[in-house]
Amino acid sequence: RDANALRPRVHDFKVKPTAQVKPTRDKDHPPPPPNNVTEPPCSDRREGAVYQVGKLLGKGGFAICYEGKLAGTTKRYALKIVKSQMQPKMEQKFQTELQIHSKMRQQNIVQFHRAFSFENCTYLVLELCPNGSLMDMVKRRKGLTEPEVRFYSVQIAGAIKYMHGKGIIHRDLKMGNIFLDKNMNAKIGDFGLAALLVTGKDMHTIRRTTLCGTPNYIAPEILEKGKKGHDHMVDIWSLGIIMYAMLTSKPPFQSSTTDEIYRRARERDYDWPVRDGPSGYISQEAKELVARMLEDADMRPSPDDIVKDEFFVCGYMPIAADITSKLRDYPPE
Ligand code: ADP
Repeated sequence: RDANALRPRVHDFKVKPTAQVKPTRDKDHPPPPPNNVTEPPCSDRREGAVYQVGKLLGKGGFAICYEGKLAGTTKRYALKIVKSQMQPKMEQKFQTELQIHSKMRQQNIVQFHRAFSFENCTYLVLELCPNGSLMDMVKRRKGLTEPEVRFYSVQIAGAIKYMHGKGIIHRDLKMGNIFLDKNMNAKIGDFGLAALLVTGKDMHTIRRTTLCGTPNYIAPEILEKGKKGHDHMVDIWSLGIIMYAMLTSKPPFQSSTTDEIYRRARERDYDWPVRDGPSGYISQEAKELVARMLEDADMRPSPDDIVKDEFFVCGYMPIAADITSKLRDYPPE
């Protein structure tokens, strides 16, 4: 057989927005609000929606995020605002985010509602996650208990299964990109580095070769330039890093230089601390599951394999209500 005939095509969303997600234009609108001021409302006039801009939620590499209320309702959202004129690299990240995120719909992925623009800014209207990121919480708590780690790992594995089922690899899964909703459920956000794998007839997947991600969470195969490339298993590696970091409060290969992080990741050079964090010890089941996720790509478990792992039956699995009341208000004011 002609191998080329089987080679699938790559769509990496370097394309312009489709009509469906192209932001609507409104030239008469005010610029994005400055920090900490009672803001004027902003509106998507074509759709007839007016958003009252509230408190600052956070700033990212190229976006600023405010709480927004849809006028005349009690509905609250996160308004992610970016300047329409961006450097080409940022522009591409933003287009990727718009194209891929707008097609995602799953309970553990930040819901994308709409995009609109006026004057020099584009607004993304997103599901509000008012409890910060998993990273904030893990830092505050200095690690999570094993039942809590089970709760979040299942949620993240479910979201990964959904993304991969749609041919999307996220490529930048990390605790800072996993937000917490009002009930402390995990919601994956920031699709700026995601990519779509278009599969051939026989379901061979292409392997992307771009270097992307955040040093502590990057799978070693992404670093092997000119070699095989990488595929959706890079997200499973990142989940392994996230699980380790939830259990111990820091990623396994943390070092002072990026090169050292990469060396340690390549050699799987990590230890489990003897710890005094929330659950006092780390089970063998947890350690073995993390080790499987940090294997070479073709040895890593799928999301379904992960949730069937012994780790999820060897101890208590909390229900949502336990998590909400215990974690949201921690530490007590
Ligand atoms: P960038 O794409 O520029 O990195 P992020 O998506 O990380 O921007 O968003 C910047 C900050 O805005 C985040 O660190 C977080 O504090 C806040 N944020 C982003 N999305 C939401 C959301 N859906 N709900 C609440 N806060 C959010």
